[in-house]
Amino acid sequence: MNTINVVVAGPRGNMGREAVSLALEEETFTLTAVVDSKNDGATLSDLEGLPNEDVPVYTDVARCLSEHDVDVLLDLTAPKFGRKHMEIAFSHDVRPVVGTTGFSETDIAELRTLSEEKGLGAIIAPNFAIGAILMMKFSQLAARYMTDVEIIEQHHDGKLDAPSGTAIKTAQLIAGERDEKRQGHPEEKEELRGARGAELEGMRIHSVRLPGRVAHQEVIFGGVGQTLTIRHDSLNRQSFMPGVKLAVEKVLTLETLVYGLEHLID
Ligand code: NAP
Repeated sequence: MNTINVVVAGPRGNMGREAVSLALEEETFTLTAVVDSKNDGATLSDLEGLPNEDVPVYTDVARCLSEHDVDVLLDLTAPKFGRKHMEIAFSHDVRPVVGTTGFSETDIAELRTLSEEKGLGAIIAPNFAIGAILMMKFSQLAARYMTDVEIIEQHHDGKLDAPSGTAIKTAQLIAGERDEKRQGHPEEKEELRGARGAELEGMRIHSVRLPGRVAHQEVIFGGVGQTLTIRHDSLNRQSFMPGVKLAVEKVLTLETLVYGLEHLID
C-alpha cells in the first residue's frame, strides 16, 4: 500500500506529540522523520516520552527533506519558524501542512504566490478542531443578522501569540459580513490600557492566558434585548487530530495554499 510520507516538525511539543502518534497509528501514513529544535542525529526512541520507534531526528529541515522522500511537512513549532519551514518545504517539492499560528496577511499572500508558482498545495490551519471550524462558520452566519460582536479567546499560558489565529480568522470572517463599525459608547475611554482588548475592523478581541486551559473561544453577539453566544472548547490536543489527518490527505490534491480548514469542509 502506498502511504503518505510525513515529517513532523516540533515532535516534543504538545501538538507535535499527538501528531507523532497520529502519523504512527494511521495505516495510510508513514512517519519518515521528525524535525526538532535539538537532538540532531538521535532517533524518536531517544526523546523522552515519545514512542520507541527508529525514526530519525533532524534539526535542519532542509537536510531532512533532501535526505528523504517526503510528501508532507507537518509543522507544529513556533510562530517565528512556520513561514521559514514552509519556504524550505516548497524548495524541496514538499507540501506543507501548518498548524503553527502567527502568520500575517502578507505572509499568507506571499506564501500563496510561492505555492502557485511551484504548483504545490499547502494548508495553513489556525485551528484543526472541526468544532472550532463550525464555530467560525456559525459566527459568520450570525454576523449577517447581529452586527455587534466581541470575541473572548482563552488558551494555556505557554501560547506565544495573541490574539489566537482562530480569533483573528473569526474576526476576518465576520468582517466580511458587516460594514466596519465602532462598537461601545462613542466616548468610552480606557482607564487601564488594553481594557477594551485588541481591535480588528471595529471588533474587540480579548485574550486570556491561564494554566489549565487548552483552547477555547466565545463569540458574543449583542442585539437589542438579546445576546447570542457561540462557544467552542478544545479539551485536549486530541481534538485537533481528525483535522490534521484531513489536512494531510487533502493537501496532496491541492495546487494552491488554503488558509483555514473551513475551505476543505462542505
Ligand atoms: P509547544 O508545546 O511549545 O511545542 C512547540 C515545539 O516546537 C517545542 O517542542 C519546540 O522545541 C519545537 N520547536 C520550536 N522551534 C522549532 C524549530 N525551529 N524546529 C523544530 N522544532 C521546533 O507548542 P504547541 O502547543 O504544541 O503548539 C505549537 C504551535 O501550534 C503553536 O504555534 C500553537 O499556537 C499552534 N497550535 C495550533 C493549533 C491548531 O489547531 N492549528 C492547536 C494548538 C496549537 P523547544 O521547546 O526546544 O523550543
